[in-house]
Amino acid sequence: SSAMWICDLTHLISLVVNLLDSRSVMGDLGWIAYPKNGWEEIGEVDENYAPIHTYQVCKVMEHNQNNWLQTNLIVTEGAQRVFVELQFTLRDCNSLPGGVGTCKETFNMYYYESNDEEGRNIRESHYSKVDTIAADESFTELDLGDRVMKLNTEVRDLGPLTKKGFYLAFQDLGACIALVSVRVFYKRCPSVVKNLAQFQDTITGSDSSQLLEVAGSCVNNSVAEDLPRMHCSAEGEWLVPIGKCVCQVGFEELNGSCQECRLGFFRSVLQNPTCSKCPPHSFTRVQGATSCSCEEGYYKTDTDPPNMACTRPPSAPRNAISNVNETSVFLEWAVPEETGGRKDVRYNIRCRKISVDSRRYEECGSAVRFLPQRSGLRDNSVMVVDLLAHTNYTFEVEAINGVSELTNPGRQFVSLNVTTNQAAPSPVSVVRKGKSGKNSISLSWQKPDRPNGIILEYEIKYFEKDQETSYTIIKSKETEILADALKPSSVYIFQIRARTSAGYGGFSRRFEFETSPYLVAASSDQSQVPIVAVGITVAVILLALVTGFLLSGSDTTWCVCLRRCGYSKAKQDPDEEKMHFHNGHIKFPGVRTYIDPHTYEDPNQAVHEFTQEIDVSCITIERVIGAGEFGEVCSGPLRLTGKREFPVAIKTLKAGYSEQQRRDFLGEASIMGQFDHPNIIHLEGVVTKSKPVMIITEFMENGSLDTFLKKNDGQFTVIQLVGMLRGIASGMKYLSDMGYVHRDLAARNILVNSNLVCKVSDFGLSRVLEDDAEAAYTTRGGKIPIRWTAPEAIAFRKFTSASDVWSYGIVMWEVMSYGERPYWEMSNQDVIKAVEDSYRLPGPMDCPAALYHLMMDCWQKDRNSRPKFEEIVSLLDKLIRNPSSLKALVNSSHRSDSEPFNYGSGHQSVGEWLEGIKMGRYNELFMETGYTSLEVVAHMTLDDLRRVGVNLAGHQKKILNSIQEMRVSLINATVPI
Ligand code: AMP
Repeated sequence: SSAMWICDLTHLISLVVNLLDSRSVMGDLGWIAYPKNGWEEIGEVDENYAPIHTYQVCKVMEHNQNNWLQTNLIVTEGAQRVFVELQFTLRDCNSLPGGVGTCKETFNMYYYESNDEEGRNIRESHYSKVDTIAADESFTELDLGDRVMKLNTEVRDLGPLTKKGFYLAFQDLGACIALVSVRVFYKRCPSVVKNLAQFQDTITGSDSSQLLEVAGSCVNNSVAEDLPRMHCSAEGEWLVPIGKCVCQVGFEELNGSCQECRLGFFRSVLQNPTCSKCPPHSFTRVQGATSCSCEEGYYKTDTDPPNMACTRPPSAPRNAISNVNETSVFLEWAVPEETGGRKDVRYNIRCRKISVDSRRYEECGSAVRFLPQRSGLRDNSVMVVDLLAHTNYTFEVEAINGVSELTNPGRQFVSLNVTTNQAAPSPVSVVRKGKSGKNSISLSWQKPDRPNGIILEYEIKYFEKDQETSYTIIKSKETEILADALKPSSVYIFQIRARTSAGYGGFSRRFEFETSPYLVAASSDQSQVPIVAVGITVAVILLALVTGFLLSGSDTTWCVCLRRCGYSKAKQDPDEEKMHFHNGHIKFPGVRTYIDPHTYEDPNQAVHEFTQEIDVSCITIERVIGAGEFGEVCSGPLRLTGKREFPVAIKTLKAGYSEQQRRDFLGEASIMGQFDHPNIIHLEGVVTKSKPVMIITEFMENGSLDTFLKKNDGQFTVIQLVGMLRGIASGMKYLSDMGYVHRDLAARNILVNSNLVCKVSDFGLSRVLEDDAEAAYTTRGGKIPIRWTAPEAIAFRKFTSASDVWSYGIVMWEVMSYGERPYWEMSNQDVIKAVEDSYRLPGPMDCPAALYHLMMDCWQKDRNSRPKFEEIVSLLDKLIRNPSSLKALVNSSHRSDSEPFNYGSGHQSVGEWLEGIKMGRYNELFMETGYTSLEVVAHMTLDDLRRVGVNLAGHQKKILNSIQEMRVSLINATVPI
């Protein structure tokens, strides 16, 4: 960079100071010439009549010339090196006639340093010779005649000079010279300001190659950034500046000096070259400001850069919304309208809950967790977890920024009131193993940290390690159990979950415990002796009872039991239930499981395994309420020991039955006895020890659902109807969970009690369809209730829970039409054909669209696409919870108001149809994905629509509604009404 500086310095021209200029001396020069006849002064004047001091000598014809001309003392003024400029003329010796031998064409210049006026006393030998001066050009006689003087100019420098002054002397050794002028000068580097540093006027150094380093001083209101220096050359030029000064804060450089910043401007750091305008919302009151002050209501933090605008706190966040999920709340809000001009807006959450006395709000405390954190949130959302269930909370979302602390304008927040929901209990986290035997492990555990309600029971799931497909579930109200019937020396995995009215919590993590080996000291197993002993006692009684029965003997124990009008089977510990599962299905080693009675070689054994024998003396038959295939159905009270009398239904097996009929009759009891669910008809027991043989079930006051509905046409609210359907679905879910396929689900096989609770009944074996008047023989010889049966079951007897779902859809239709006969009076053959051709029942009058949609789903041709009973239950639950979802009706009683989609008459294409519902944009997608005819389109589901590429919920809805209309129109076109 120094090269640059040099270039930059060309203007710093040297300053020349004359110490002597013979031309400007007005009076006598007073120089001394010796010998006296040597140099002589010629008085001449120039055109301005100013004297020209010319000394001349011309002794060219004489030998041994030595003429000296000595100046006065020339004071150096401190210069160490001076320049002497001589102007002279010199005669060419050749031009002189004769005397050429002695003629010289040069002269010598000497100097002598002295501190005093020494005058004539200087000896020749004291002088130092500067140089021999020759003329560049000499002149001839001719020249003189022409009055043309050829003036030579020669410059010599001398130094280093150390004394106050010096004398110059010119020695002539026989030349013809006229010394016209003598100028003596030295050079200075002139005083200069460079880079805001002042450099004093400096006399150059004594050496021609010397650079004098000179320190500069910073100009007013400036400071040295790096000590400024420059170099004064022998030629009087400033070279190589180093370092510089900068204006101090509040000033800026202007033409080499520092000027105060103007009003409204400031300069706070030396690094900024100039004053800057005050940033927004700030000002200055004086010139030369080093910072700007914030306007009222605006602030600056210590860390805000000086050029940043003054800012203010943000306004409150906007549009806060909450989303409650059990005991978590997701809060979301929009950024404040006014961010205060800052980017560092953060949010703090204040959480308060309503106090126990429901009067005041109190702080939530540290149990509540905020994700990712409670304060200083950057994002405009937060997840609040671990709240209490069923509690009112208020959340305040406060917006702050970097200057909020500096102000006191009151908190800027938006508040939200939130009520938490019910929550399932948190997982059990502490599980301990008690004593373990070779066949048992006892466990205890701690209540979940957050029960979120009253724990109704625990469910303990366990299985042998790596044998997960086969597991056992025990339910217990206590926090300890004994898992028995385990293998010795085996590792078992245990998981526990708690249940409250809100449902099950998550399972605990897996705990691994091992049973003892076969050979174990008896003492280590002592703790479980009592429990095992009880277990053994129970088993012994059971064994005795069963054996007693099998032997068909009139065992005394047996009789005593019967006379007591109680169950002849040992009951379980009421606080503990045990179920075994295999591959997702419950295994049925115990009381409450389903096993096909057909698998028993002796059907009586099934009857006695799954049903309870009731002594006929406990039953009073009061009246006949119906007729079954095997005999009358009666009702009357049942009295059991220790229980209040309650009404039951009594099915009887008429006299004269065959052994097969008896077996089939009791088969239903064997099945029913395996079920225990509020929506499955409950078996109280059987009477087999006397005649007539009876099946005793709970009494259902309102009889079968189909007749009940017909009797009460139009009498129920939609919610009541959906409630009934929900019950049926729940019972069916239970059956399908148990692996039981009903095959004859229809409204006639649902019973209704006085509380409108619907229960699934009519369980049979092979006779299931034989005794159903609706069952018709198919071409393959089976008897099937065609109108209720899924096509695959009709076609190839594929009865599954999915075919039960189809039937359930028909039951829905029956319920929603108050017992209307499905497909009216169409013949079975026509029904089969219509269904095969994809025609479906139309929505019953005034049926909520959501329900009709569910029916249609149950009637999907592909059985895998049909909903599962579990899904049906939860959908119906949702509809019940949100009654407005039932508002939209499939078709109203005033059908003429709406124009049903007309499929039969027109020759509409898919394109025309889409156009008609303003969905023409999807035509291409429909074509590409193969939905080229309305017949295919009529079976589209939501998933199909998504696959086609209809992703907007609104469009999906619009199209599905139209498809539904289309289906209605299809069925209307086929079914004679
Ligand atoms: P089922 O042989 O089971 O189809 O019964 C024939 C008729 O008896 C049914 O249609 C009902 O009207 C009546 N019935 C059967 N069981 C009960 C019951 N538990 N409570 C009331 N009525 C019943």
